[in-house]
Amino acid sequence: MSNEKLVPEKQPRFASWLAEPMFRNKHIYLKVALAAAMINVFGLIVSLFTMTVYDRVVPNLAFDSLTALAIGVGIVLVFDFMLRILRAYFVDIAGADIDRQIGDNVFERLMRIRMDMKRGSTGQMTGMMRELETLRDFFASASITAVVDVPFIAITLIFIGAIGGPIVWVPIVIIPFVIVAGWATHPALDRLAAKSMNGGLFKQSVLVESISSLEMVKTSGAAGLMRKRWLNAIDEHSDSSLRQRLVSTIAVTIATSANSIAYIGVVIVGVFLIAEREMTTGALVACSILAGRAVQPLTQIATLLSRISATRTAYAQINGLMSIPSEGPLGEPLHPARLNGRIELRGVDFKYPGATEKTLEDFNLTIEPGQRVAFIGRVGSGKSTLARLMLGLYQPQEGLVMIDGTDIRQFDTLGLRANIGTALQETVLLSGTVRENIALDRPHIDDTEMLRASEISGAHSFMGQITNGYDLKLADRGEGLSGGQRQSITLARALAGGPPILIFDEPTSAMDSQTENQLIDRLVDETKGKTLVLITHRTGLLRLADRIVIVDKGKVAADGPREQILAQLQRPRAAA
Ligand code: ATP
Ligand code: MG
Repeated sequence: MSNEKLVPEKQPRFASWLAEPMFRNKHIYLKVALAAAMINVFGLIVSLFTMTVYDRVVPNLAFDSLTALAIGVGIVLVFDFMLRILRAYFVDIAGADIDRQIGDNVFERLMRIRMDMKRGSTGQMTGMMRELETLRDFFASASITAVVDVPFIAITLIFIGAIGGPIVWVPIVIIPFVIVAGWATHPALDRLAAKSMNGGLFKQSVLVESISSLEMVKTSGAAGLMRKRWLNAIDEHSDSSLRQRLVSTIAVTIATSANSIAYIGVVIVGVFLIAEREMTTGALVACSILAGRAVQPLTQIATLLSRISATRTAYAQINGLMSIPSEGPLGEPLHPARLNGRIELRGVDFKYPGATEKTLEDFNLTIEPGQRVAFIGRVGSGKSTLARLMLGLYQPQEGLVMIDGTDIRQFDTLGLRANIGTALQETVLLSGTVRENIALDRPHIDDTEMLRASEISGAHSFMGQITNGYDLKLADRGEGLSGGQRQSITLARALAGGPPILIFDEPTSAMDSQTENQLIDRLVDETKGKTLVLITHRTGLLRLADRIVIVDKGKVAADGPREQILAQLQRPRAAA
């Protein structure tokens, strides 16, 4: 289990996957900014109202003026209320739209990620994807509008100057302290945000691993180990997130205190100004309200800054994911309609990323269309790797993998794989119904085709006996079915649509020999005229093949018609 640091502590610039959705919503954000500006103006009006009441209404007890003023300010308050709600609503709309677009872009990229470039465990990757929430929260939070409040700090100060003269120096002196506090804590916040996120990812990967292999963890006594890792992750995470909170609390609290200090400072200084008859009581009250208003946006900005740190870290993560190269050709891809199924490997050398030894070395092989080839060989000889190369999941470092005479790197990967029915060594079903698992929402696979494929794979024989049949809902990874049943469904999935190429890796490893035999009988007809790559340890299955290739240490050890290779295999045994 790796706890490699996936989140860089230095943050990159805006990428188009984020900039585009933001830009698309600029009209909404403009409205939001306008609403925020109006709300600020209303704040100024309220302070003017207070001043007028103190200075004009109170001394003369002018109730008529008070009524008029009250009506005026009442209208302002109603608008203020509506604008605040609209502002929040607009921000939510923009946030939801951005979230949807980013989510779509990121998921699309995730599905096309190059296997050899993939970094981090499943848990870490899901953790990264979860950071989309942080981005959404940011774009959908009213705190973005704090930016609009910044110019109003200056406007409010001008107002204070106009009403109270020199009293304006009180907030002017205080504001820099808040700004400096914000600036000073920002780098630490950025660093801590990245650290705490790494801790979070570590936690997530322990969790995902433990939960997804719960049966194994329980039965083989791995609970202790996982618990130790979990506690480790918690400690690491809580340490950094604790410090992160502390730093951001300090910045926000400094801003909040500055608010009170500005208010009290204005009141104290105001008394002196009133004594010197430079200011009225109404002006003092208005100025104290305004001083609060001038400093208040800073509190919001302090909050915004700490939020930006978290958001930038989330952004850096997702951006890291988005910059992993995608599968598929660099130029215009070829979209194969239906392939003939000629597979050729020419001088293929392949090494897994990070591995020290080559898994395949100078591998040469041609499979003609319609040929059925069985690959046999020892554990770890490279058979499954061959299948992965033919599917374009990995690319050879040397040599070519060609289908129908074209380097498969030139094909559109979706188009290529649509031509290949695949049942990989590890049987994986998805959550959802059995029907969904076989048809996978592929448009050309209707119920008739699904049933045909199920009948061949043998899935139909037990689906008929299960209540709900094809609508049986499976939990994650096909929980709810036996191992052999899962394998049948995987085979049905591969056969559905009748692709010209079939790649089966140990398709019957979980089946009893009777089921296997019946399956082979049906497959003999089904695979006629199709290119079949059959990887197996089971001799029964060899009946399906016209040709057998023995793979040993990443090389072809023997290759020939079935009977010939089988005879070769018998001979040494007979000699012994
Ligand atoms: P088996 O019969 O057990 O399925 P195989 O012939 O299918 O074996 P492969 O899965 O192709 O063997 O693996 C060949 C070699 O490549 C093995 O030595 C294995 O250690 C290595 N290998 C397989 N998958 C990876 C991977 N994802 N990353 C690094 N090395 C791998
Ligand atoms: Mg294998």
